[in-house]
Amino acid sequence: MYKVLEISNDKVHGLSDSILASGYPMQTEVESNQYKIPVDGDVKRAKVLSGCKPGTGHDCFLKGIIVQFDVKASEYWYRQADRYTWFDYVSSQSKMHRLLKMDIDENCNEWVDARIKAVLMEKICKYNQMVEDGGYTKLQLSYAFQEVVSNCPSGFMLTARKTTNYLQLKTMYNQRKGHKLQEWRVFCEWVKTLPESWLITGEQPEN
Ligand SMILES: Cc1cc2nc3c(=O)[nH]c(=O)nc-3n(C[C@H](O)[C@H](O)[C@H](O)COP(=O)(O)OP(=O)(O)OC[C@H]3O[C@@H](n4cnc5c(N)ncnc54)[C@H](O)[C@@H]3O)c2cc1C
Repeated sequence: MYKVLEISNDKVHGLSDSILASGYPMQTEVESNQYKIPVDGDVKRAKVLSGCKPGTGHDCFLKGIIVQFDVKASEYWYRQADRYTWFDYVSSQSKMHRLLKMDIDENCNEWVDARIKAVLMEKICKYNQMVEDGGYTKLQLSYAFQEVVSNCPSGFMLTARKTTNYLQLKTMYNQRKGHKLQEWRVFCEWVKTLPESWLITGEQPEN
């Protein structure tokens, strides 16, 4: 089994309230929605609005559907994902705090060459030895740590908790569903598992 991208502990908030709020533009008075659940008319409206062309604005209610999840992914995936504006971090694992103690083999994806892992482990051993031996200046230790971080491969996987929304996922899904990286394909398959994912994918329910 290939370690590509793993998503767990996903939570969706604000689904019903946002579907109800998608009706506000056509209401002369807005009654409290506190105890309401969407009925057929609300779902029908959400279907039409969410199916609009990205960037036209009619789907802005999707912003209120908040998604949070843990993702374990390689550095190069984060670099691409970080370009999205509303795809923020709650908290993430830190190489600065924990790279020296991490299991390198376990945290590298399948495509990292064994030679590269060996180089990283060698740099970590060298740094740890310097600390153990003592007598090095702060600058010498800092340079040794720079060597460790600079030789950490792009396929090194870290876990982060992310926060985003259905509107952002709609952009991501449309841009990435046919992407050549496996990570994006796994990501887009996960999007399809979210409640009422047709709001994101445009793959409409039957009625
Ligand atoms: C297959 C692929 C390859 C790519 N390759 C490269 C590459 O090699 N180099 C590169 O630089 N980029 C590349 N990109 C683009 C880059 O990754 C995008 O920035 C990223 O996909 C985010 O998309 P987005 O701009 O639609 O962002 P989102 O954050 O999803 O924004 C959605 C929309 O909101 C609006 N918006 C967002 N931020 C602002 C803002 N600050 N001000 C005004 N309007 C805003 C824009 O209309 C934008 O289209 C690539 C994208 C894809 C899909």
